Amino acid sequence: MSFKSLGLSTELLRALVEQGYSNPTPIQHQAIPVILEGKDLMAGAQTGTGKTAGFALPLLQRLSERSHAAGKGGIAALILTPTRELAAQVEASVSAYGRHLPLKSMVIHGGVNIHPQIQKLRGGVEILVATPGRLLDHAQQRTLDLSRVEILVVDEADRMLDMGFIRDIRRILALLPARRQNLLFFATFSREIEELADELLRSPVLIEVSRRNAPAESVEQLIHPVDRKRKRELLSHLITSNDWRQVLVFTRTKHGANKLTVQLERDGIRAAAIHGNKSQGARTRALADFKHGDVRVLVATDLAARGLNIDQLPHVVNFELPNVCEDYVHRIGRTGRAQHEGTAISLVSIDEREQLKSIERLLKRAIPEEVIVGYEPDPSIGSEAIPNGPMGSDPRREGSRPAGKPLGQSKRPERRQVQNSSRARQRSPFSK
Ligand code: AMP
Repeated sequence: MSFKSLGLSTELLRALVEQGYSNPTPIQHQAIPVILEGKDLMAGAQTGTGKTAGFALPLLQRLSERSHAAGKGGIAALILTPTRELAAQVEASVSAYGRHLPLKSMVIHGGVNIHPQIQKLRGGVEILVATPGRLLDHAQQRTLDLSRVEILVVDEADRMLDMGFIRDIRRILALLPARRQNLLFFATFSREIEELADELLRSPVLIEVSRRNAPAESVEQLIHPVDRKRKRELLSHLITSNDWRQVLVFTRTKHGANKLTVQLERDGIRAAAIHGNKSQGARTRALADFKHGDVRVLVATDLAARGLNIDQLPHVVNFELPNVCEDYVHRIGRTGRAQHEGTAISLVSIDEREQLKSIERLLKRAIPEEVIVGYEPDPSIGSEAIPNGPMGSDPRREGSRPAGKPLGQSKRPERRQVQNSSRARQRSPFSK
């Protein structure tokens, strides 16, 4: 993945070449498209992950797409940082990345004479990087106008809270227009961050990037909400667009496993089914082909998968959620073994909402959701009972989600990278 494919403009790409950056870091890869789409974001990322460019690049791009002449549109982006040093550093990055764009940035922090800052503000600035205290001094003296801010970035929010800036932040928020894009960055999640996120963000996307060199033993669990009839299409899309080479896919029924295998083959993806109706010979062959890479997708039912001895699978996909919650845990336990990273993805239709709730109750945590562009659930499609389904997905059941409300549009962040198993035992950021 290159910076170009993330949709950055030629001016920004040029600046990146000059910086010597060739490829985006994981946080940049995840955050840039979300910010370019105009969504609110909360991102768990430490210093050193490239988080500054992760927000600065899309912010510059969004502002440069507007039609104001340089310095004439007022302050359009406000970046708050806890310390002077960080403010100066962030502003230096913003001006380096934006050097070929007609946007003016400046830094404001305490400890220096306020008058040169006032002079510079008068000249017109689009991007302001500031520490809270000095920013409020300016606001009180009416030497700056925050009423046209379109994008707010709170960088190192956890440090800001530790330093007691919460009241200052609230006072600053009161000076901003209600309609704006909000980006919240933090290194460590806490209840306070969660509360701030609740105040600040609207339907945020959550991204967590582990520290570089963190032990790679995590299983990333993710839900892709999708209409029941489009699951196969989405699965093929995920396999080909991500170039997944070895995927174990779970279906609820043997018939479902056979049908999906045929359809994947039709899509040009080598697949084999493995379930109770297959002879031992056929199962062994399918498994051997899968292990050797001749078969890319192994479609299995829960029972058949029990005996499978495949370690370190990179990808497990729940094409359908299991009838029994505990089977979810067994299924995802097939990936991310022995210090290898893995992803466990569930394609969840509106019918499976109750099952999902039960699984999340068992896990004592919510699984992050990410709607894939082009596969958004159709809000007009209601829930249907699953034939031979588990705990029943009758939409009339008490507590079930009203039909027609698509998944992934709740206030809860769309996406979350799940911590490794040892951390998972700690309180999860979004546990209920
Ligand atoms: P940050 O986490 O934003 O403080 O960035 C850490 C360091 O990584 C800074 O020195 C950046 O200049 C550098 N950096 C950020 N993005 C990239 C990239 N895509 N390639 C190489 N270096 C980068």
